[in-house]
Amino acid sequence: MELYTSGRELRNLLKSLKKEGKSVGFVPTMGFLHEGHKSLMVKARRENDILVASVFVNPTQFGPGEDLEAYPRDIERDKDLMESAGVDYVFFPSVQEMYPTGYNTYVDVEGPLTILMEGASREGHFRGVATVVSKLFNLCVPDRAYFGMKDAQQVSVVQRMVEDMNMDLEIIPCPIVREDDGLALSSRNTYLDEKQRKDALVLSRSLGRAREMIDGGIRDAHLIHDEMKNMINEIDYAKIDYIQIVNARTLEPLQLVTGDVLIAVAVWVGKPKLLDNIRLEVE
Ligand code: AMP
Repeated sequence: MELYTSGRELRNLLKSLKKEGKSVGFVPTMGFLHEGHKSLMVKARRENDILVASVFVNPTQFGPGEDLEAYPRDIERDKDLMESAGVDYVFFPSVQEMYPTGYNTYVDVEGPLTILMEGASREGHFRGVATVVSKLFNLCVPDRAYFGMKDAQQVSVVQRMVEDMNMDLEIIPCPIVREDDGLALSSRNTYLDEKQRKDALVLSRSLGRAREMIDGGIRDAHLIHDEMKNMINEIDYAKIDYIQIVNARTLEPLQLVTGDVLIAVAVWVGKPKLLDNIRLEVE
């Protein structure tokens, strides 16, 4: 495994490998890697000749007052995990490398995909995501890029951008990896103390309850929403950012739960805001 801090050098190398007919799989991350990230890399490893992963805590996707400085980092541990997942090249740029003095170009995906959920509570977040992902695609020249469904909205936004901007690659969504008890893996879980770690299970439990209600024939989104809200509010210090029941493709809110449905929750459990979701086909 080789580590590159220069985008130009990495791209030159990857372009010459692609000329030999090799395919490139790419997994972008912000580091502090866990088994969720690794599952993306393992899949990408199987499906491509060359595997590139990036580690970059992207400042443009953090809003004011968010945890940019405090975001957990451990590149040495990350390198071990990437090596064990079979990564060939790690792109580990500095902020200056990605956003040099005079930098002034941003990619903005407009419309319903970025209005709700993370778009509502984190102004400019998806502009930062779309911008950095475009830059990373230009530097890592992937044939396929792998994204986790834990950030379901991010997957939709990136897919929209790739289609709208005629980018020549395929986006591969990958399932959420969870702890045995159901908690979705996240770098932000490290902020949780023991009690919060237990209480954080309320996210996956509330989604499980929503699924039960739908299996039981309930189709009224308000009923499901309120049931989830009540469950989460039983944790007295938990603060709900949103509970959204939406069409999984358009991310538009549903009154009637039917079709390709995404149920997404975001809850502050102490310091970190945790995300979770389920996607289901409802008749
Ligand atoms: P991040 O480092 O948080 O930006 O995440 C990098 C990629 O890993 C994103 O595509 C995430 O959706 C994905 N990811 C993070 N956590 C998980 C998880 N628990 N299961 C699957 N993918 C994940």
